Amino acid sequence: MHEYSVVSSLIELCEEHVQKNNAIKIEKIVVGIGQRSGMDKSLFLSAFETFKEESKVCRDAILDIVDEKVELTCKKCGYIFIPDKIEYGICPQCKSSNLEITKGRDMNLLSLEMIGEDQ
Ligand SMILES: [Zn+2]
Repeated sequence: MHEYSVVSSLIELCEEHVQKNNAIKIEKIVVGIGQRSGMDKSLFLSAFETFKEESKVCRDAILDIVDEKVELTCKKCGYIFIPDKIEYGICPQCKSSNLEITKGRDMNLLSLEMIGEDQ
């Protein structure tokens, strides 16, 4: 399942951050999941619950998931906008349909709360 591989790389990323910041473990993780990522929030959450048991730094972490809206960029005029409907794809400025999804297609790590050695 896609969610499992994404969660596994998320945990790797968290471990890297902990090392870089000389922290001990992670308290809270906030991720944004794009509306067009094709990922299921509850599956993502249950994958995280499974994976975090095996990670020293993420074991006690809380995962918060935020919806990330789709953002489109017009390839013709460069206009960036958030469409009302996901399927709707015409540039409001120049009416071109040559659009690219520039946000909302994947998972982004938005913030991490870590516990350091002196806390
Ligand atoms: Zn345009």
